[in-house]
Amino acid sequence: MSKDYNFIAADLFQHSFAQEFDELCTEVKNCTACKRMCGSQRVLNRSAGFLDAKIFFIGEAPGRLGADATGIPFHGDVAGHNFEKLLSHVGISRNEIFVSNAVLCNPKNEKGNNVPPNEKEILNCSSFLRRQIEIIDPKIVVTLGGTALKATSLIEKHNLQLKNHVRTINKWMGRNLIPVYHPGQRAMIHRSFANQLSDYQFIFEILCRIDKRKKKTEGAIKEDINFVIDLITKKRPTLSYFALHKLFYLAEYYAVKELGTRLTNAFIVRQKDGPYCTDLHYSKLKSTFSDMQFHKNKGHLSIIRRAQNLFEQKQTKNSNFNSVAQHIVEE
Ligand code: URA
Repeated sequence: MSKDYNFIAADLFQHSFAQEFDELCTEVKNCTACKRMCGSQRVLNRSAGFLDAKIFFIGEAPGRLGADATGIPFHGDVAGHNFEKLLSHVGISRNEIFVSNAVLCNPKNEKGNNVPPNEKEILNCSSFLRRQIEIIDPKIVVTLGGTALKATSLIEKHNLQLKNHVRTINKWMGRNLIPVYHPGQRAMIHRSFANQLSDYQFIFEILCRIDKRKKKTEGAIKEDINFVIDLITKKRPTLSYFALHKLFYLAEYYAVKELGTRLTNAFIVRQKDGPYCTDLHYSKLKSTFSDMQFHKNKGHLSIIRRAQNLFEQKQTKNSNFNSVAQHIVEE
């Protein structure tokens, strides 16, 4: 009996917040607060994403060739293409997220080209943004670029700056706010695709922690990572721990450049002194490669691969992956 009651209560709750969202969309549709954008589409509708999403991405404003044309935030233009590529590389599906913008209409100049929204326009739209966040109630809010970060500070004050706080977790509005760069082509000058990929891997890690889901690096995929380590350390049986991380990162970098995709889904972070891959922690290497020895000298860790297994190549179940990885590591 109480189960039925809970079920009905959950259903009513679901219904009420979906209804609230639809009402907000209607309000947005009728908004005429920003004169220069009155002729544009108001991009807020059910195609923005999953109303129960744990993660809410905020962009700048709908693009002329993207959201303004398709009605779907970050879809149909270069920024949308990059955004979807970054998500899919790390295994986040658009079906599980909600995506919106600081400003819900497309700001254009006299020539009809995209331009950033001005302060007044960001302020005009900030109450719509606050209400979207309250309705979706995500655990994580990710701002894509400086305009989105500024828009969040108008809802609840913070002093975060993109340059200093990129890829950090910050308490905001009772949630986790993670600032990252905008995925549009212009912002790639300031933050390369490879670097942005690390940002999205970080977001995915946080999502896994909050969602208590299994990371993709568990299970069979680990095989791919170990295969690449095996290839590297067979070519260079003596190398520093730092060099192993760097070579692994370079293999991934080269794979993205050459093939447009990563070799593995290993989690790599960029640290001050170089890339660091959490899957290459020395305790993990030790338990996987019985013929690997570690030496510490004046704070520097080096690795020696003993001769015994050097001629016996590890294989994964995917022979295509084996030959692609071999080619990439050779290069
Ligand atoms: N498309 C969007 O929806 N938002 C942006 O900020 C850029 C492109």
